[in-house]
Amino acid sequence: MNFYNYINGEWMAPSTNEFVANLSPHDQSELDAFPDSAEIDMEMAANAAKNAFVSWSRLSYQQRGDYLLKASFILQQKLDEVAIDLTKEEGKTLAEAKGEINRAISTLQYYAAEANQPIGDVISSRNPKMIIFTKRVPIGPVGLITPWNFPIAIPAWKMAPALVYGNTVVIKPAESVPKSTYHLVECLHEAGIPAGVVNCVFGLGSVLGNAMIENPSIKAISFTGSNAVGNAIREKASLLGKPVQLELGGKNPLVVLKDADIDLAVESTINDAFLSTGQKCTATSRVIVESEIYELFREKLMERTNELIIGDPMDEETFLGPSVSEKQQKSVLSMIEQGKKEAKLLTGGTAVATVELNKGHYVIPTIFELESQQVEIARKEVFGPVVSLMKVNSFEEALEVANDTDYGLSAGIFTRDMSLSQRFIDEIEAGMVHINSGTVATELQAPFGGIKSSSFGPREQGKAAIEFYTKIKTVYYNS
Ligand code: NAD
Repeated sequence: MNFYNYINGEWMAPSTNEFVANLSPHDQSELDAFPDSAEIDMEMAANAAKNAFVSWSRLSYQQRGDYLLKASFILQQKLDEVAIDLTKEEGKTLAEAKGEINRAISTLQYYAAEANQPIGDVISSRNPKMIIFTKRVPIGPVGLITPWNFPIAIPAWKMAPALVYGNTVVIKPAESVPKSTYHLVECLHEAGIPAGVVNCVFGLGSVLGNAMIENPSIKAISFTGSNAVGNAIREKASLLGKPVQLELGGKNPLVVLKDADIDLAVESTINDAFLSTGQKCTATSRVIVESEIYELFREKLMERTNELIIGDPMDEETFLGPSVSEKQQKSVLSMIEQGKKEAKLLTGGTAVATVELNKGHYVIPTIFELESQQVEIARKEVFGPVVSLMKVNSFEEALEVANDTDYGLSAGIFTRDMSLSQRFIDEIEAGMVHINSGTVATELQAPFGGIKSSSFGPREQGKAAIEFYTKIKTVYYNS
């Protein structure tokens, strides 16, 4: 079945009338087809967002929040159907798909509730008759570009704050996983959101990205994806004077000190390195372990890794499914081949070759042991089920290794030592820090983002989202 773009409140075929098949990562069967849109479709969407902006921005926060709330209830009713589509097109297990959709539902509800929170400050004045206050005003139509690994949660955590604070949106979902974002847009449509407030254009980033960024009606861009694309967007947008928010890659370290709860650290590594087939920007990718417990940790981790069930993500017992696409599988396997040249392979290291899974893009969970941090497998983001172990002799050495990366998204430490965990919080170069828990950030009400090359611009999620999606007006009111 062919699905359409959503522009100005209507489902519209792309101007090209061309569609691209959406393929299952499990067996490459054709699931459905989505528009291969052209620049003109993006232009129509941007125009619609521009025309809808004034009336939408004049509604109250609560009126806008009501649409989000209604959409969340609709998505709740469709949870099972949407979870099946998400699993089929992305390859994460049904349990993980439901978790992601629940997060999208909660995000819509969180920002609907934010409408009732204080927005702006009252500031004292030297003049007793003067009241100074700040007002938050929307930016205008915003462009949202999203990746394939969380195709409903990430669109929700960009759209919900954008909308409740009074902006209209044009979203360009990732090409390989369009249907999940389609469902979210459909829920907003069914909630009765006014025409033009939400627009969604499917197609290639290389075609639609520029058309979005360069369109004068689009006043800001929020992007989640790879560093290469994100940095190119930042450059273009800065020439046009448009604000940009970027959430990019990670190479997240987990430090395990000698006094750690080893079983907890092993379980956390298993979940954060291998769930979602390692396709999370906050996935644990380097585990740095103090020498006293290194061998024991390695043994336990390998034992648990070798027990993991790889298979059809629709099967209940599956722990990890396929990589999202053939391209992604190839990229992960080529990183693994590079790793074999420069580090010791402890387990995994190949695609899954069984009759049942041969057509899918499966990769066996893989562990490397590193002698040095100066190798590609320790420095480049893999975005697959691959983790590296490294032995260190002290907390100081662990910290040095953990910080020896261009990225700075998330980091964790397992220790019972309060003073060392405090030092870790202060000295680790990461935007999100976890003490006795893994590197994956799960709470939508907490600000999300990194430092160094992992992020640029204000943070997403929680109350922090208002910083990107609004501008401040300072009002001097002489009574
Ligand atoms: P990607 O950069 O290839 O694609 C992301 C989006 O950008 C897609 O919608 C794509 O169509 C679009 N795009 C591609 N070329 C473009 C161009 N020239 N101009 C404008 N848009 C363009 O990334 P991906 O492969 O979809 O996602 C994986 C990456 O995303 C990883 O690096 C991962 O770490 C990162 N990621 C980061 C976070 C975070 O919050 N930090 C979350 C999820 C994923």
